[in-house]
Order: sequence, then structure tokens, then C-alpha cells
Amino acid sequence: MNPAEWLHRTALIHPERPALLSGTRVVADYAGFRARAAGLGRALQATSIAKGDRVAVFMANSTHYLECLYGIWFAGAVAVPINSKLHEKEALWIIRNAGASLVFSDTSHGSLLRAVSEPGDPDIVDVTSTEFTNMCANAPLETPVALDPDELVWLFYTSGTTGRPKGVMLTAGNLGAMTHSYFADIEHVSKDDAILYAAPMSHGAGIYNFMFVMNAARHVIPESGGFDSEEIFDLAGKIGNISMFAAPTMVRRMVDYAETNGCDGTGLRTVIYGGGPMYEADILEAVEVLGDRFVQIYGQGECPMGITVLPHDLVIDRTHPRWRERLNSVGYAQSHVRVAICDEAGHPLPTGAVGEIMVRGAPVMAGYWQNPEASAETVRNGWLRTGDVGCLDDEGFLTLRDRSKDVIISGGTNIYPREVEELLLQHEAVREVSVIGAKDEEWGEIVVAFVVAREGTALSEKDLDAYCIDHIARFKRPKIYRFIPDLPKNNYGKVLKTELRRLLA
Ligand code: AMP
Repeated sequence: MNPAEWLHRTALIHPERPALLSGTRVVADYAGFRARAAGLGRALQATSIAKGDRVAVFMANSTHYLECLYGIWFAGAVAVPINSKLHEKEALWIIRNAGASLVFSDTSHGSLLRAVSEPGDPDIVDVTSTEFTNMCANAPLETPVALDPDELVWLFYTSGTTGRPKGVMLTAGNLGAMTHSYFADIEHVSKDDAILYAAPMSHGAGIYNFMFVMNAARHVIPESGGFDSEEIFDLAGKIGNISMFAAPTMVRRMVDYAETNGCDGTGLRTVIYGGGPMYEADILEAVEVLGDRFVQIYGQGECPMGITVLPHDLVIDRTHPRWRERLNSVGYAQSHVRVAICDEAGHPLPTGAVGEIMVRGAPVMAGYWQNPEASAETVRNGWLRTGDVGCLDDEGFLTLRDRSKDVIISGGTNIYPREVEELLLQHEAVREVSVIGAKDEEWGEIVVAFVVAREGTALSEKDLDAYCIDHIARFKRPKIYRFIPDLPKNNYGKVLKTELRRLLA
């Protein structure tokens, strides 16, 4: 099923429903959205772009983003959304790796990209140009090109906290299953609802567009084109029924803003958080300040947004004897997948044992683009090796320990950085923390904590060590503390442990 079929259907049934909003301003209803995408689809076909061809999108969030995606899909081509915060050289690397035939860009990204492009690289179309307007004004294709479930729709370049990004091949079937899991596991969507894109549309936030297209709901792109707590609360209040994806750092900032400015989150329906660890103290505070608005998901590019879910009621419920454990988990398997914990040889481990998290099911990628070795290494007998380490309890709740490579082995004992981070974060003067291992002659590795102190507080190594001695086994205590003003993060708000390792060296 081509996702453009969903747009096509919605536009036939609800042509007058507002579709694309820039801030509070409606820039297209569903009839207009479809007409522009279908016109763009015809323009792409006229340049010989056909089923399976790749077309890249390198620009900041805007309403044009969705026009481009659906224009590409109308023509049956494959969208390659590139994180707009990447350096233009990194973007060009992806464009070449994907073998893209054309790039849609905004003015600033386009000019940066042109400056590094060479003869042979694809044409760049500026979405604010008359050229783009004319492309969209073509006679609309009557229907989208038909796609089967195993045909490619989205090439998703992984954020790459290590090494070169790999192109995750997502098919129509993968995205359809992920979309249906959202309805089953997170919430239903009606035409009175809205999605707000505050995180990059090239990533999870954009992947969540489908549910809202299917149901004639509104797509709100903040005028800032990015993440701004004040703008989000303002839009939520004015537009209402807003759902949005937010990385844990974004949730943290929203909560800080709400606390300082006395916001209660009116108009926000659901904040779906994930993409990195959410600390217990942070989610408890988020619920306290903003109420019952949170759902956690755990996923990765290779199984987008689609591995586990901790739904609204379990985030909020404090009556269950295991509520705290559940809150610290990433929830249970979403409706379209099975989750297992395996040892290094890939053999399933019993309940409670810690091992690599494996996933199997309809949303799991078709493999990495032109990389059969990495595909074979990552998907074995239909099971996706996530590279994450965790355990399942007897009720099916999955708790993440860490990424396998982050485990610190000190004196032969495994230490999970997450556990130490959770503890230090409970210290009242600690704002943020990230823990890594450092080579040590005596112990093999020792624990190092990078700490960001809360503003206006005095914090010393001695305080934190005493705090650890009070709370965790002595061998888990950081041997080294480094106080820094900010943790290095990638564009999705994930802490760059590789950068911390470099700082330490
Ligand atoms: P990416 O493919 O860039 O989206 O990164 C996916 C990785 O982020 C996963 O493999 C996990 O290590 C991490 N991650 C995703 N969701 C969560 C979550 N809810 N809690 C903790 N870590 C997460």
C-alpha cells in the first residue's frame, strides 16, 4: 500500500478539512494538499523518476516537507529524508550513497549543498522557488503509483552515534504495520486531532505523520521550524488536541518551561517520548507538572517507533504494586512484534536474564541499503538484533540496561551506566549526567561520570561519592568525575558518549 493512497482517500472524503498548518495558519486543506502532491508526482514522472528511484529531502521542518514526501510517493519513488541539522557534506554523502535522482531543499540548505556538490550530483530544487510551485501546479496524477507491501518507501539514515550512517530500508508494509500499532497501542486519531512537528521530520516525528493523514487530522509545523517550548505551549493552547513526539531532553525542557511559566499543558493531548533513556525523576516531574499526557515508545530506525510501548495509563498509574518498575521499563511489545532476550550466540534466555534485545515482526526493516553484510549481521533468521541490552519480566515488560557497547566491565563485573546515571540524577544538585567507562590498568575499566550541575548549586566530587556510597554497591561508584556546562548531544538530543570518551582522552 502506497502511503499516498491514504492522502488520496482522505482528500476524496474530507477535501475541506484543514491539513497543513504553519503555526496557526492553515496553508492547505486536504484537497489542496493532495492536488499539490499529485501535481509534484506528475512533475517527477516527467523527469523520468519512477518506482524505486530515490529522491532526497534536505530542509528544515515546513509544510513543504509533507508535500515533497507525498509528491515522491505519488510517483512511486522512495523518499530519503535527511536530518536538516547535518553538515552539508554529510548530507551529500547520504545523497550519493542513496543514489538520489533529485534533492528537495529550502534556500539555506540548498545553497550550502550546492557549494559542495560536484558535476554528476543530482539537481537541487528549492521548495520556495517558482520552479517548485510550477511542479506542484502540474495536472495532478489521478491516483498514486501502486506499491506492494514489500516495496521501498522510505530510506532512513540512522543517526549514527558511531560511524557512517546506514540507510535503513523501510517498505510500505513496515510503515503500514507501524501505523496500525499506533492506533492499537498508543491512541486513536480523529479529524479533530493534530500532530505537531517539533523534532526533525526526517526522523520519528515525521514517521508519525501517517496516522494523521489517514484520519484527516491537522499537521502543525511550528513557524520556528524547530523546538521551542514557549511556541509549543502556545500552539497547543490555540489549536488543541495536539500529539507530538519528543526526545527525553525535549520533555525535560518543556517541563522546565512549564514550571517556570506556570503552564499546565492545556491543548496537549499526548507527548510520545523515546529515542533515549528517560530518567525516573524526569518522568515523575513531567507527570506532576503536565499531568496525564505521556506515552513512552522504544524503537530504532531499524524498527521505527515500533518495538515497545508504555501507554498513558501505565505512565500515570501509581496504584499497581509494580508501578515504579514499569515506569522504569520501556513497556511491553507493540502489537505487531515479538521481543526476545538472547545470549551472544542468539539463543533465547529465560525471563529476567539480561541479554541482547531481539525483535521480529512486520515493522522490522527490509535491510540496509546496498549493505548485505551489515544486513545479514543485524537481521538473523528474521530477528533484528537491536544492539540494546535489557531484560523482560514475567509480565512482558522490557527494561533497557544499555547499548551492548556501553556496558562497563570493571574487575570482571558488568556495570550498566544507566543505573549509575539514574542514581546521580536523583541528587538534588545534578541537572544532567552521563556515565562511560575508561581504560584502567588495575580494573580493566573504571566508571567515569560527566556531570552538569543545576544552576546556582555547589557540587563536589566528595558530595557525589558520599551519595553513591549511600545508595549503590561500592564497585559501581564513579572513580572520576568531570563537571561540564553541557553534555555533548547529537541533533536528536542523544548524548554522544563517543565525544565524552574523546574529552576524557
Ligand atoms: P535511532 O535508531 O537513532 O532512533 O536510535 C535508537 C536507539 O535509541 C535504540 O536502539 C535505543 O538504544 C535508544 N532508545 C530508543 N527508544 C528508547 C527509550 N524509550 N528508552 C531508552 N532508549 C531508547
